[in-house]
Amino acid sequence: MARMPGAEWRPISVNYTDGGQAEVRGVVVHIMAGTFEGTDSWFRNRAAKASSHFGTSKTGRLRQWVDTADRAWAQAGGNPSWLSVENEGKGGDTLTEAQLDANARVLAWANEKYGVPLQVTHSTSGRGLGYHAMGGSAWGGHTSCPGPRIVAQLAEIVRRAKVIAGDAPAETGATIYTVRDGDTLSSIGAKVGVPWQKLATLNKITAPYTIRPGQVLKTKAAPAPMPKPPAYPGRDKFGPGKRNKYVTQLGEALVAKGYGRFYDVGPGPSWSDADRDAVRAYQRAQGWAGSDADGYPGPEMWRRLFA
Ligand SMILES: [Zn+2]
Repeated sequence: MARMPGAEWRPISVNYTDGGQAEVRGVVVHIMAGTFEGTDSWFRNRAAKASSHFGTSKTGRLRQWVDTADRAWAQAGGNPSWLSVENEGKGGDTLTEAQLDANARVLAWANEKYGVPLQVTHSTSGRGLGYHAMGGSAWGGHTSCPGPRIVAQLAEIVRRAKVIAGDAPAETGATIYTVRDGDTLSSIGAKVGVPWQKLATLNKITAPYTIRPGQVLKTKAAPAPMPKPPAYPGRDKFGPGKRNKYVTQLGEALVAKGYGRFYDVGPGPSWSDADRDAVRAYQRAQGWAGSDADGYPGPEMWRRLFA
């Protein structure tokens, strides 16, 4: 007996074979050609002679109708060996982001529970994430289920399942986190080192702060673009008696580069001996000498300083 944690358990009393799941080679993706609740009703109708283990709504609801020890009636000859997921939508649709996540959760769970490999398969003798059409006539000849656009999305489902299973980094630099069962914003915040309030803001989540397993959260804001270096303002902006914003920019950039020791006060807009000494030290550190290390910034120094 197996019911997937995090899936809404809404068992049906007809249209399945009790204890009929002989093995689990993988998970088969279907398209409902109908609505989530319409499909739910249909599976409860004895006349349907159809069912699936799982179903998703376009909004990402995940429901389980048939225990995975039992055989759902979704893909004819494939029923004894494969689990099934029906997805709300019509022929030609693509799965929504939320559906991709929900399918990934089913696949990750089947991986954990039955050792289903996290890969796409196009063959009934393979294992992994398959689709109805791959079974051909032996699987009822449903060659348009779930449709080529969804078949093209299967690799993305596998990628997300790997993230959930912990087999893959969330993303370079780990700027996202995929919610697992039992997570709360504050437990995720503790894991990724970000205050939960910031997670809520980043992801536009408001009270009561509901999150669902499989949901992908941003954990960092996109990096700010590098500020453009200011243009070299000209030699005449620097020297005794000069007072302008470029003197301040120069001093602040020198402090940022590690030349703060020259400033007892400032930096500020009025040119000072501290500015001159700091500039000279910076110029010498570039290997410059003589008039190239005169304590007044030139265009090349300016460029390097703000690079
Ligand atoms: Zn199908």
